[in-house]
Amino acid sequence: MTAFNRRQFLKLAGATSLVAAMPRSLSAATPLSNRVVIIGGGFAGATAAKYLKHWDNTIDVTLVEPNATHYACILSNLVITGAISMNRINLSYDGLRNRGVKIVQALATAIDPVGSKVGLSNGTTLDYEHLILAPGIDFINPNPAGAERLYDPNLTPHAWKAGPQTTLLKNQLAAMPDGGVFVMNVPKAPYRCPPGPYERACIIAAYLKRKKRRSKIIVLDANPDIVAEPHTFGTAFSQTYAVTLEYHANVGITQVNSSLKTIDTTIGALSADVLNMIPNQKAGQIVFDAGVVNDPTGRWATVDPLTYGSTVYENIYVIGDSQATAQPKSGHMANSQAKVCVDSITRAFVGETSDPQPTTNSACFSPITETEASWSTAVYQYDPTTHSMKRVEDSFGEAAEPSSENYEHMFHWADNIFADSFR
Ligand SMILES: Cc1cc2nc3c(=O)[nH]c(=O)nc-3n(C[C@H](O)[C@H](O)[C@H](O)COP(=O)(O)OP(=O)(O)OC[C@H]3O[C@@H](n4cnc5c(N)ncnc54)[C@H](O)[C@@H]3O)c2cc1C
Repeated sequence: MTAFNRRQFLKLAGATSLVAAMPRSLSAATPLSNRVVIIGGGFAGATAAKYLKHWDNTIDVTLVEPNATHYACILSNLVITGAISMNRINLSYDGLRNRGVKIVQALATAIDPVGSKVGLSNGTTLDYEHLILAPGIDFINPNPAGAERLYDPNLTPHAWKAGPQTTLLKNQLAAMPDGGVFVMNVPKAPYRCPPGPYERACIIAAYLKRKKRRSKIIVLDANPDIVAEPHTFGTAFSQTYAVTLEYHANVGITQVNSSLKTIDTTIGALSADVLNMIPNQKAGQIVFDAGVVNDPTGRWATVDPLTYGSTVYENIYVIGDSQATAQPKSGHMANSQAKVCVDSITRAFVGETSDPQPTTNSACFSPITETEASWSTAVYQYDPTTHSMKRVEDSFGEAAEPSSENYEHMFHWADNIFADSFR
């Protein structure tokens, strides 16, 4: 992807567009129009598109997304073990179309924050008054400089974006011989879906126990301890899957060779039959291209949690996994943030200020066995003293133990979040 040359735009741009590009703190009251462009049709972008139309049908909403449908990561671990089909997580954009959202099937390839324009892969350009960036995550190559090409996700899939990667990992697992070794890692936090890698480890262990009893799964965690639901996953690893699963905390990965399926780590070199390498993560590339990645790690976009407005440009917002509010990177949270952002934009259209006390929430259901699931939940509330979202401690917790009832609730919860975001 190529960024517009900002210096050229500054030369060419008139006074109006310069105002649009001004840092938030310097800009004067900017006249508001109702043209909103959203980049990315995942949980954050689809929810934003839906609720803009739902709360004010006169707003002109365009959603830019390269894929014809969205494969949800939620429940996708169950596709890998064959418990559900890809179809179960395939979400249509027809619900948004029916609400009057214009869907452009293309990739956003450049942003001109000065002229308020988005360049698309189909050669066209879109103008915006407000731009919502919701492209999810991209991956950081796990190999050191010079060895980048030894890592190839088409050979050692991450399956951390649902779609062809999910199918590839499913096929590799099915083809693995009995007695084979499945090696996977947990990336360094913050990463997409804190319980997700541990959940995957559990249900792959369950699959191996049933289908390939001589096989084992090795889990290499870059973090000092289990990041989410420590009681649930700790018990599953040490008891339910004590024979099938080997868990190592605090493991650094120094090099991956995807053709050989080998991995060099701080606890030694390993050879895998299936290598599920999930690289460390950063904001989607287009957020970098827009020039709004500015958190201390250089990976995520800092935003005002009252609006999800970027701290760099007044009319660019970042929601979902790409932003840096330190709330969990989950689909449920992306849905919640989209509503806060859209509430703020629709209030501004009628001259109202943003909600001064927004709350957001996140829930995750994790299958632990082939018939039982656990859950975790947290609510976040705006703290005016630190100008940040703070976890409400009483709201934070995990299921006492996995149950078949939770397994059933998991599908209802998923269908609700699918419908609330996409229909
Ligand atoms: C295995 C797994 C299990 C999970 N389970 C749960 C769960 O139980 N509960 C939960 O809440 N969350 C779960 N998650 C996390 C959840 O899927 C993500 O946090 C969520 O998808 C983030 O939403 P998003 O909109 O930011 O990104 P995404 O949903 O990834 O959407 C980003 C969209 O942007 C598009 N895009 C990217 N770049 C561009 C561009 N340049 N132009 C146009 N479009 C672009 C992409 O095609 C994509 O459709 C899970 C994740 C994984 C991997």
